[in-house]
Amino acid sequence: MQKRKTPAEIDAMRECGRILATIFRDLRPRVQAGVSELELDAWVAAEIKKHGAVATYKTSEVKFPAAICISTNDQIVHGIPTDYVLQTGDVVGFDLVIAYKNMKTDSAFTMVVGDKPNGVQKHLISNTERSLYAGIDAIKGPVRIGDIGAAIEKVLKEAKLGIIRELVGHGVGHEMHEAPEIPNYGKKGSGGFLTPGDTIAIEPMATLGGERIMMDDDGWTINTRDGSIAAHFEHTVLVTEDGVEILTQL
Ligand code: MG
Repeated sequence: MQKRKTPAEIDAMRECGRILATIFRDLRPRVQAGVSELELDAWVAAEIKKHGAVATYKTSEVKFPAAICISTNDQIVHGIPTDYVLQTGDVVGFDLVIAYKNMKTDSAFTMVVGDKPNGVQKHLISNTERSLYAGIDAIKGPVRIGDIGAAIEKVLKEAKLGIIRELVGHGVGHEMHEAPEIPNYGKKGSGGFLTPGDTIAIEPMATLGGERIMMDDDGWTINTRDGSIAAHFEHTVLVTEDGVEILTQL
């Protein structure tokens, strides 16, 4: 299903993922009230360069107008960084694809600005992140795409969160988006098999409200239709013989 990657290409993806995770680690403490999205984007762009990597969103054929997607509150994904100044209590998602030695990795996380997230925000963020790891943990030996979706869906359903079904995870590596699609819902034992050596991005998105989405006037940002708050977590993983290796984690 996927174009095979050579061992050298897999190694490049490991390095790429480590750089991405390092940038995220260093980004977190900079996400503070009083800082604008554009300032964070400029910082991320400089870090990518410093590490000898390339900002894929900007340079790829999709021509996203920034180095990183920043999606705030009711924005789910693909938010364009603006001069909006972050405020305490904002729920902010960061989604980044970078390339290193021509190989790409993709990762995302969501956090609350300030040190006092409310209970509802904590519920949304912790369960969306937990659903990502449930999806990853479902990859044990031969796995079908529906096994991953079912594991994610179970966590989000039990947490009574809205599941974004119109946006999906995907293969990644040579390109930012490769086959197969990895939905955030599904039935155990259904869908195509993943093969050791496959590299995929798993990326659950959830809301405190409904599941409907809408495109913003800017042609990029995807918002919740009901204005509810959304969260998004993503890792690029390598499928191995007996499990999985998370590439975008330190
Ligand atoms: Mg992705």
